Amino acid sequence: MKLLEDRILRDGQVRPGQVLKVDSFLNHQLDVELLDRLGAEFYRLFREDRVTKILTIEASGIAVACLAARHFGVPVVFAKKAKSKNLDGDLYTAPVTSYTYGREYQITLAKKFLGQEDRVLLLDDFLANGKAMQGLLSVCHQAGCAVAGIGVCIEKGFQPGGKELRQAGYKLRSLATVEEMTEDSLTFRPQEE
Ligand code: 5GP
Repeated sequence: MKLLEDRILRDGQVRPGQVLKVDSFLNHQLDVELLDRLGAEFYRLFREDRVTKILTIEASGIAVACLAARHFGVPVVFAKKAKSKNLDGDLYTAPVTSYTYGREYQITLAKKFLGQEDRVLLLDDFLANGKAMQGLLSVCHQAGCAVAGIGVCIEKGFQPGGKELRQAGYKLRSLATVEEMTEDSLTFRPQEE
């Protein structure tokens, strides 16, 4: 999506460890007008997929999930990273290794918010090694819901997450895919549709 690529080129910063900083518009300060356009694009890409719920992970995925949900007219549910007690067995849990912080944490989701009747669209801000998505997919498998598709704002195409999810057969769409990045250059992969 050219609008997002142009914004990354204008305001994104490449940091050591292959981290792309986009905190002036996507995941710290939020450009809501841009997020709404991204949400509309996710709707265009997944409108035929009978989505009943959007699932994301806190914190960075929530904003884009909410703006997308307005176009789909469905609820958003987000997996929590904070430790919760699972005393009654009323939570789905899955381990995730954080890309940006390099440590493992548990994600949790209340069982009452996801079930067999759902067709879920998974959304997040970034896809790198795919660990966050694998955690969300584990939650979906535990819930027995169908995965209608996976959407990410920015895929880092030089890391394996995207390839693995496509090989596993998921409908994955990335609004911008970074092919290569260094401190002074950044190139995108041509869009698939
Ligand atoms: P993965 O689990 O696919 O390795 O990484 C995805 C998660 O890590 C996303 O939820 C995102 O918040 C974070 N992340 C991965 N790479 C980057 C990056 O280059 N920049 C930022 N800001 N976050 C990233």
